[in-house]
Amino acid sequence: MRRALVTGITGQTGSYLAELLAAHGWEVHGAVRTAGETAPTGAPTLHVADLARPDEIATVIDRVRPDAVFHLGGLTSVAESWTDPAAYAVTIGGSTASILATARRLGDAGHEVRVVNASSAEVFGRAAEQPQTASTPIAPVTPYGAAKALGHRLVKMYRETGVPAANGILFNHESPRRPLAFVTRKITHGVALIAAGRAPSITLGNLDARRDWGWAPDYAEALRLAVDAPGDYIIATGVSHSVRDFVAAAFAAVGIDDWQQLVLQDPRFMRPNDAPEQRGDPAATEAALSWRRTVDFEGMVAAMVAADLAALADRA
Ligand code: GDP
Repeated sequence: MRRALVTGITGQTGSYLAELLAAHGWEVHGAVRTAGETAPTGAPTLHVADLARPDEIATVIDRVRPDAVFHLGGLTSVAESWTDPAAYAVTIGGSTASILATARRLGDAGHEVRVVNASSAEVFGRAAEQPQTASTPIAPVTPYGAAKALGHRLVKMYRETGVPAANGILFNHESPRRPLAFVTRKITHGVALIAAGRAPSITLGNLDARRDWGWAPDYAEALRLAVDAPGDYIIATGVSHSVRDFVAAAFAAVGIDDWQQLVLQDPRFMRPNDAPEQRGDPAATEAALSWRRTVDFEGMVAAMVAADLAALADRA
């Protein structure tokens, strides 16, 4: 039985990945920031490691001796990374360095540790090329992107010097488990509240940003497949939509076509250096990993709105 250690296991994609790995026969361990966090299905064993102290994850790897570390943990907000860039640099970049150095040390001692790192579309910044591929220049324009870029480059250099490590370059990935701080869940939750007559409107920032939004469980599957094929993989759908398109699709899912007066804009939700478009080309990943997404944009929006409506009905 192969043993996996998943950082970020209580997060959206980490929880889907833990379930997938367990279903594929892995023994799943999770790293959590504080004791008392709840294990997702299929992850019986949790270990405490605060990624803000990169030596702690090294200690956990030494204790668990996993066959693979899936590194999804770290701070997640591009907007907030401007307020505490040092914390982002350490919890994302520093933790990745610590994991790779530990994998190298255990590997040199005869126990191979594979690493799959959750890299991000943010490493490309305001990319001149559309769509982005694994060879698009790394040129982040946010502290979050810079921290992810450090992790990304470390994975590449450790791989080139013998550690079996992969980067899954994740474009935005969404599901009913997405926290409300992300625009997609903010919209589907807000639309469900409006449809239920419990909120008058939603307040958003930049409606023109275009993102390549995919289904988080599909992306967890790509990370699972990458463990046996070290490399850099774009994990994306190849199609971008604007925030406005997402809003329209979410309102359409509850039968509201005339939504313009239900959406307000507030500069508070605008960001410095918001990339106008992120769109990834998944062709090379599809070929190398025999991976295919199973849910399209409309299916994803409809599933998220349905889950938010059901949750409201449960609580009513
Ligand atoms: P991110 O790409 O990981 O930062 O994911 P988000 O879901 O937070 O943001 C996606 C895009 O939505 C960005 O271009 C944001 O500027 C844009 N956006 C527009 N309005 C909002 C809002 O109210 N909240 C958030 N989080 N993003 C917004």
